[in-house]
Amino acid sequence: MPKFSNTSKEKLSTCHSDLQKLFNEVIKYYDCTIVCGHRNKEDQDNAYASGHSEKRWPDSRHNSNPSMAVDVAPYELNGIDWGKTQTSYFAGFVKGVHAVLYENNVITHRLRMGVDWDSDNDIDDTKFWDACHFELISNKII
Ligand SMILES: [Zn+2]
Repeated sequence: MPKFSNTSKEKLSTCHSDLQKLFNEVIKYYDCTIVCGHRNKEDQDNAYASGHSEKRWPDSRHNSNPSMAVDVAPYELNGIDWGKTQTSYFAGFVKGVHAVLYENNVITHRLRMGVDWDSDNDIDDTKFWDACHFELISNKII
């Protein structure tokens, strides 16, 4: 069974508990690495400057504390695979795990993904391709 590295665990610990529950479940079946959790102002400024984020501090969901967004990439034998096919395949898996946890009230937030911002299951109409981005949106009342 795959496991998170200590670095990944540390990054995930800066995220909302729903994201922790989600990816602690995902990692049991699909090896992946936590690229980024919370971003402070300097990190956000750098992400914006390099084009990795379209948002300026403090407008990204990575800027809240705990972070409402996390960047997670699938991990293969040779490292991270940033290809569109591989990251989309991974995102679909995450979406499935999320659906089960959400349905069972283990987590209470809906999920939005950077491969499919409008959540229409069509990745070809995604304008800002943010392959490894997952964020929590509206909370359900239970
Ligand atoms: Zn992100």
